[in-house]
Amino acid sequence: MAAQSMGYRVVVLDPGSDSPAGSVADEHIAADYVDPVALEQLAARCAAATTEFENVPAEALRFLARHCVVSPAAQSVAVAQDRIAEKAFLVGSGLEVAPFKAIHRVEDVDAGAAALLPGILKRSRLGYDGKGQARVQTLEEARAGFVKLGAEACVLERLLSLELELSVVVARGFDGEVVTWPVAENQHAHGILDVSIVPARVSATLLEQARAAAVTVASRLDYRGVLCVEFFVLRDGRLLANEIAPRPHNSGHYTIDACVTSQFEQQARVLCGLPLGATDLHGPAVMVNLLGDLWANGEPPWQQVLRHPRAKLHLYGKAEARPGRKMGHYTVLGDSVQAALGLALEIKSLLLSNAQAGILKTA
Ligand code: ADP
Ligand code: MG
Repeated sequence: MAAQSMGYRVVVLDPGSDSPAGSVADEHIAADYVDPVALEQLAARCAAATTEFENVPAEALRFLARHCVVSPAAQSVAVAQDRIAEKAFLVGSGLEVAPFKAIHRVEDVDAGAAALLPGILKRSRLGYDGKGQARVQTLEEARAGFVKLGAEACVLERLLSLELELSVVVARGFDGEVVTWPVAENQHAHGILDVSIVPARVSATLLEQARAAAVTVASRLDYRGVLCVEFFVLRDGRLLANEIAPRPHNSGHYTIDACVTSQFEQQARVLCGLPLGATDLHGPAVMVNLLGDLWANGEPPWQQVLRHPRAKLHLYGKAEARPGRKMGHYTVLGDSVQAALGLALEIKSLLLSNAQAGILKTA
């Protein structure tokens, strides 16, 4: 939609027949991401290609790169697609990460792993929104968890007591120019982003530390496009890098309504070799995700959002509302973070109690 608003025509490759992106694009090729015929077709139709979903296989991007501009490059995406490679990259870039161990075989859950308990076992590949993860208390649970997650490469990470979570969305252009958006403070529920608060309520030192770390990541990856770095802040104030998302990120959705240039417009600009747009924040903003759970009582009462003139609703057009599925979000703009957060949470509790009524009705 951002590229189209600048006059570009857009082709989407997405396996889903009712894909939200496919329904707004000028053309939709419904095929697998590695379907050779579909990739040929896309390459023939496009001057430039990017991804909206980080698990598009890097090989598909490598194929397209032989025919058109591709950003981000397969190589930078590949690092972020593999937690083991990602952690090695973050540590090599001088950033601190949570204590972890790579688990390739069940025997790797050994005496050394005990220091990481209680912990979280995370599949190295194809995880998102807390999927492909298991919380484990004992070595026995860690072994069982590894098998349950498919006996594929994992990281076992120590479960940390977090003060809060931050993220920084950063864009790097073809000439190496780097810009960042204001740091977001993120609240997660069940491993899924729930609320983003901007600007984050942390010290100026921590804001600058997170911003600098995100710039380092983008530069060291020789990245072209928009990426997001997620961070943990520990109780003692230490900043740890959690993961890299090689694409516009859910915690950057606030930029659509609250910034001069949205993360999506910026991705289109980089892709098309255009100068980067300004990332200034118009004012404090709070974004709340709308998960499929809210549809338990039918279509949610959107007037609860829209009757507030500074609340902006975004629905993605997904055909089916399933629990835990991201269906949309809303952003509340305010004169202060406090005011925006207060209203955002008030709206959220009205939507939740409506869904709750639906659950009671069916029970
Ligand atoms: P995903 O790819 O699913 O986003 P993350 O590693 O970011 O995976 O985990 C999702 C969320 O789970 C994090 O944002 C955080 O809230 C929580 N989490 C993940 N790892 C840890 C940890 N080591 N300690 C405490 N909480 C964690
Ligand atoms: Mg995450």
